[in-house]
Amino acid sequence: MTSISSTELKSITANLGADRCGIAPAERFDGAPNGFHPRDVYSKCKSVMVFLKQMPPESIQAENPVVYAHTSHILYDLLDKIGLKLCYTFENRGIHAVLVPTDVPYLEWNAEKMHGMGLISMRHAARNAGLGILGRNTLLINREMGNMVYIGAILVDAALEPDPIVTGFDCPPDCSLCLDACPVKALDGITANQKRCRKYSILQHPRGWDIYTCSKCRAVCPYKSGAG
Ligand code: SF4
Ligand code: SF4
Repeated sequence: MTSISSTELKSITANLGADRCGIAPAERFDGAPNGFHPRDVYSKCKSVMVFLKQMPPESIQAENPVVYAHTSHILYDLLDKIGLKLCYTFENRGIHAVLVPTDVPYLEWNAEKMHGMGLISMRHAARNAGLGILGRNTLLINREMGNMVYIGAILVDAALEPDPIVTGFDCPPDCSLCLDACPVKALDGITANQKRCRKYSILQHPRGWDIYTCSKCRAVCPYKSGAG
């Protein structure tokens, strides 16, 4: 373990603006698809540090989809900047870290299937770092903040004190609200059909902007704002 304690790291991350922070040892990703393990991205990685920022919950209630889309884009940028500052913080302690893009860019893209994959799966990283569970809508659910959370991560070349994976909390056994709400049946309870979802939920504005026009699977979840 390094000289930076978990408590100190969480304090630094909170001061940078994150709402939650968790740490996963790289070994927790050993089931990741080939090419998407943190060590495939950065071979020195020993720990993955993951941090969350909650979207102001009312953003999803606005009728004009630009509100939600714009807030999302700002949060992606904010989390990237928090990650970059954390990398500098580690460097000043003689520890090396690299930033994983919160959203884009990434290399893996199947145009026919409209299927993309980030450098690592951010939602699995958050789960591995003890920050929540994955709902049947495929989104991270943090017990206190719900599913309106965005995820940032950095890969660190030091063994940091890990957080335990969440246990004893899951989707209610008989809940299928998110699956039923999806207008294009893109969800099967485990994965999302990205082509169906993207074609329905992303409006590509003629001026080049991506406007998200659907978030029903997020909005209908009883854990949207937390599990109490
Ligand atoms: S965002 Fe909309 S289209 Fe995409 S999976 Fe959720 S409900 Fe379905
Ligand atoms: S709507 Fe129900 S099944 Fe879907 S993620 Fe939320 S709790 Fe889980």
